[in-house]
Amino acid sequence: MIIHLTRDATAKDKEDILDRIQAAGLGYEDLHSTTGTVLIGVLGDTSTVEEGYFLELSGVDKVIRISRPYKLVSREFSSASKTVFAGDLAIGGDNLVVMAGPCALENEAQVEAIARYVSGLGIAVMRGGAYKPRTSPYAFQGLGLGGLKLLAAMREKYKLKIVTEATGLHRHMTAGGGREEKTVLENVIEYADIIQVGARSMKAYGFLQELAMLTKDSKKPILLKRGESSTIKDFLLAAEYLVANGNPNVILCLRGIRAFEEEKFQRYTADIGAIPVLKKESNLPVFFDPSHATGYRTNVYHLSMAAVAAGADGLIIETHNDPAHALCDGEQCVTEAQLKKIKIDAEKIRALLLGR
Ligand code: PEP
Ligand code: MN
Repeated sequence: MIIHLTRDATAKDKEDILDRIQAAGLGYEDLHSTTGTVLIGVLGDTSTVEEGYFLELSGVDKVIRISRPYKLVSREFSSASKTVFAGDLAIGGDNLVVMAGPCALENEAQVEAIARYVSGLGIAVMRGGAYKPRTSPYAFQGLGLGGLKLLAAMREKYKLKIVTEATGLHRHMTAGGGREEKTVLENVIEYADIIQVGARSMKAYGFLQELAMLTKDSKKPILLKRGESSTIKDFLLAAEYLVANGNPNVILCLRGIRAFEEEKFQRYTADIGAIPVLKKESNLPVFFDPSHATGYRTNVYHLSMAAVAAGADGLIIETHNDPAHALCDGEQCVTEAQLKKIKIDAEKIRALLLGR
């Protein structure tokens, strides 16, 4: 529900309106308006509240009910596109942000080599999984906390922002068979500039709630990936979980969906068509991950260009200094030279869209 105030509404009117919202057990948020009208967003379950409950108050012009099931992340609720900040880095708006790095952090030499060329290409954000959600329990599970520390060192050395995945609320098993002291989520919140939620966790609603609550104060950005078999509505409702529980800084990230394609041709099916849909339905920045969407490095360039042309605000790309020997997703990791071409050409397409 959105309450539009009249042009001559006083501070006292607004106070009375906020009191009435609270009296109904609801919350509120001041909304950004492009027309100068003061707008108050009413948060919580408004299904039993009649419009008249607010309309009878002085200073209320109209009351609009949000029809979308996802409310706070919808354009209906707030028409202005949201810019999310990771420190001084603006994500959304005119900026095209590229994030790149290996699928998994493997060792110091690999992390350093990749960080060096990623930063050399002018890429602002380095990715890399310290905790890896692997399909096989026998596959490399990630370096854990040690990997986060390597990434944090690259942040200092190369002035990169870092994005890394929190896979759950559990404590990571260490190589020696023990457990890390803190949970994966706690560790990632502590080290990352942007917290990635993977496709497999998109529907772990308790996890989303916990993540949002633990980042309520810091409001660290969350890169939320679309589940491989989730609808656009499910995806936006997962984003709503994060925003409704206290963290509004959500970046949506498409990464291909499960269709009936054979994996030898493409790992998933690129959901490029969802980019303009998400831009229209929601006010959040929309990213695309061409690496997981295709599964093969030869196709990453094409999907990157298509995603930017379709209006993506950024790309998250897997790259490796030695793809043939990568411990995870080597076939979809682009080389430094391929990454360079993607970045340069993606920026040209973005400039074209902006009319520059
Ligand atoms: C990843 O980014 O390394 C990853 C595991 O991606 P997704 O969650 O999209 O499978
Ligand atoms: Mn990967």
